[in-house]
Amino acid sequence: MKEKFIEIFNESIRYFDIGNEDAENKVYLQGNLHSNEVTAFLVLLKLIKILEKHPLESTFIRIVPCCNPTGFKGLIYGDSGRTSFPNRLDWNRIFNIKKINTKTLEFKLADSLLKLSQDFQTLVDVHTPEYGIEHIYVESLDKRLITFDDLIHIISDLITEDSFEDSNNFNNPKCKAVTLELPSLEINTNSKIDYWSKRVFNELVAIDKNTPLSTPINVNHGSIVNLYSSIDGAYKVFSEVSGEFKKNDVILSIYDIEGNIELIKAPFNCRCICFRKNLIAIKGSWVVRILKV
Ligand SMILES: [Zn+2]
Repeated sequence: MKEKFIEIFNESIRYFDIGNEDAENKVYLQGNLHSNEVTAFLVLLKLIKILEKHPLESTFIRIVPCCNPTGFKGLIYGDSGRTSFPNRLDWNRIFNIKKINTKTLEFKLADSLLKLSQDFQTLVDVHTPEYGIEHIYVESLDKRLITFDDLIHIISDLITEDSFEDSNNFNNPKCKAVTLELPSLEINTNSKIDYWSKRVFNELVAIDKNTPLSTPINVNHGSIVNLYSSIDGAYKVFSEVSGEFKKNDVILSIYDIEGNIELIKAPFNCRCICFRKNLIAIKGSWVVRILKV
């Protein structure tokens, strides 16, 4: 295991190279791009410890537990951790570097992370929704991970190059770049960190053994539907628990407002995946109520 650093402005991105760089399989993992998503940071640190004890045979692994040290410092000084400063770009919408001013911090960060992750076959960007359950973004189901079929999958049918995952899939169509969102509705106990680091380790073992994907799976798939709340502009993503829905299907609509509580009607039996801002959903069979907390 080699601990390495690259400099970006006044900060260093610390990363760990594990195994032989000429290995048959190459996996890249990063976490904490959104700086408030510390679960990813903790899980990847734990994963490094597991790999120290249980090295893999034919896989080279690069782990960047905190890939955005500038953002993390901002978080410590009271920033939200979601966006860059001073330009206020979502930290995960900076990777279409052709569109970004080369003198900015955003460019430097995106350029550094794209260079660090170049030439890897599997790339996992580990996130944590602010309020939400575990789920995965994949470009297509044949590019999904091997051992995570129990999670809800969201297929990005539009590759924008803007996010880390999209940019890698766009620049290297042969690679498999996914975003793994860890659950955030429970606090980061040791057992939670152990569970998710072990799960990621199991994926690495499956890659190491060249385990094939299982045959068609029973996961949800469909387009992401974003609902912008009329009250607070908060962004919410839902997915149906079972079955498929087509692009542009209306999944949620606001049917009434009580004070600053929005009553959301769901034509499907929905489950919340991800919330922005301080919102929480109580699951109901047909109606999902959004409450401010
Ligand atoms: Zn995130």
